[in-house]
Amino acid sequence: MAAILLDGAAVARHINSELKQRVTKLSKRGVQPGLAAVQLGDNPAARIYVHNKVRVCAEVGLYSEVHRLDADCPERVLLTALDKLNLNSRIHGIIVQLPLPRHLDTARIVQSIAVDKDVDGFNWRNLGALVDGHPLFVPCTPQGVMTLLDRTGIPVEGRHAVVIGRSGIVGKPMALLLIGRGATVTVCNSKTPNLAHITRQADILVVAAGRPGLVSGEMVKPGATVIDVGINRLPNGKLVGDVDFEGAQQRAAYITPVPGGVGPMTVAMLVDNTVTAAERCAAAQLLAAAPAS
Ligand code: NAD
Repeated sequence: MAAILLDGAAVARHINSELKQRVTKLSKRGVQPGLAAVQLGDNPAARIYVHNKVRVCAEVGLYSEVHRLDADCPERVLLTALDKLNLNSRIHGIIVQLPLPRHLDTARIVQSIAVDKDVDGFNWRNLGALVDGHPLFVPCTPQGVMTLLDRTGIPVEGRHAVVIGRSGIVGKPMALLLIGRGATVTVCNSKTPNLAHITRQADILVVAAGRPGLVSGEMVKPGATVIDVGINRLPNGKLVGDVDFEGAQQRAAYITPVPGGVGPMTVAMLVDNTVTAAERCAAAQLLAAAPAS
């Protein structure tokens, strides 16, 4: 029997409608959440990602601004722009679209975003706090995967979760979230021998490698949940994930499509983090304005 589709786009629409209510509540207190997206160069894929984020922000009622800088922009210019955004009270969340041009120190750039505006959750303080389970913001893609599992009622505790990919923005935080929820977690990377032997043990298989066709149907345990994070553009222009969807859906119980699976969930989590940042800011202002007793 073919797997049930985990419709990330539909779940994201539902989350976005809930976010609208939080935005309305904030507007009654004179606050509109604001997101600033910084993009370097004119990579068409990056432009689409930024466009999608800004589009959903507008749908939900957020203010947003996009700062497009030249690909050869000196590091100090970018750092100055981020400093200004850190101080801008209209802006509650800041993202820098990755990857950055090679002449820039990605770590230095990302660390320069104020922790309380780091809605991508990439700041070391947020990632470090995630180890202990108390980050201000969780990286959006892994948080989107967890939310998709939760909202479709797929249990995590006690299951064997296998994560393919160990990047700081997807694989590692994904593993930490799964560990935090009581899964037994195996993390694989490009040097892992006999990948298929490991993936066949996965009750939950999260694939984030950026390699089209990496996971074939035979690598999937019958009845597993398969989450395909990968986004790959084939030479014919088609967008695919890392999993052979046709093969995997014959064995899995649940599977995400690409596109329409993890992607929209990632954007919804970014908007959620930005609304949360604005709520925290409004609460802090209220506290500061309260008369001392
Ligand atoms: P990355 O290149 O930083 O990391 C890839 C990881 O995959 C590495 O840890 C590498 O060791 C591992 N890997 C590569 N080849 C492998 C192989 N043959 N076997 C096992 N492991 C292998 O990439 P990333 O930033 O983590 O992104 C991964 C994928 O997820 C990309 O396709 C990216 O476009 C996509 N992505 C999607 C979303 C979304 O919202 N859906 C968000 C972020 C990233």
